[in-house]
Amino acid sequence: MGSMASDLLFLNDAYLRDFDAVVTAVDAEGRRVALDRTAFYPTGGGQPHDVGTLGDLPVVDVRKEGDALWHTVGGDGPLPCTGDAVHGDLDWDRRHKLMRTHTALHVLCGVIWNEWGKAVTGGNMEPLSARMDFEFDPLPEGFGPRVEELVNKELAADHRIEVSFLPRDTAVADADLIRTKVNLIPESVDEIRVVDIVGLDKQADGGTHVASTAEVGRIRVVKTESKGKGNKRIRIEVLDG
Ligand SMILES: [Zn+2]
Repeated sequence: MGSMASDLLFLNDAYLRDFDAVVTAVDAEGRRVALDRTAFYPTGGGQPHDVGTLGDLPVVDVRKEGDALWHTVGGDGPLPCTGDAVHGDLDWDRRHKLMRTHTALHVLCGVIWNEWGKAVTGGNMEPLSARMDFEFDPLPEGFGPRVEELVNKELAADHRIEVSFLPRDTAVADADLIRTKVNLIPESVDEIRVVDIVGLDKQADGGTHVASTAEVGRIRVVKTESKGKGNKRIRIEVLDG
């Protein structure tokens, strides 16, 4: 078996919905397949994996293990063999909702940093709903309605979103990236992917995002709650503009 590393097509093109690839490894027992290239996003960075199809087989899970990216397939049809050409198709409706949601969370981070100077401590997302934790103690009076108003204003302002790859030295020297703890990325990583919501928020990030904030739509703050000292949780849903 050669290198297990696949070309991760979503890092450069989040809008790629289908692709051709060659099978590089098969785990028959786990019903898992690795490919030389893929548009399927694996669970990570708070963003859930994509689903879709590989040939006739449904893709039910996508995971990165070291260099290998495994597509777990459902159904009971035969698995392809190493060296076979396959066609992959994403469930685009789900992926695009995740892109809108992921971008909404970065806008939320940017707004909270600019307005209150608070950093994010954790988060998670599903298609069109998410939660994110921040270092507030306590939450400011009237926080929910205020943050909703500010985020929706930035979404409507239609900020462009740019993805770039920076040498590690350049990224750790960038004042806008320091607050998102880019310096904690392992020394072995020599190139850092940066997602820049131009004029609002810049983060080292491996996720998939829409091309401009207007494509997100708008958000609603569903709930705010305390998860302990210095940790307050915000739940949002993403709605059509
Ligand atoms: Zn992110």
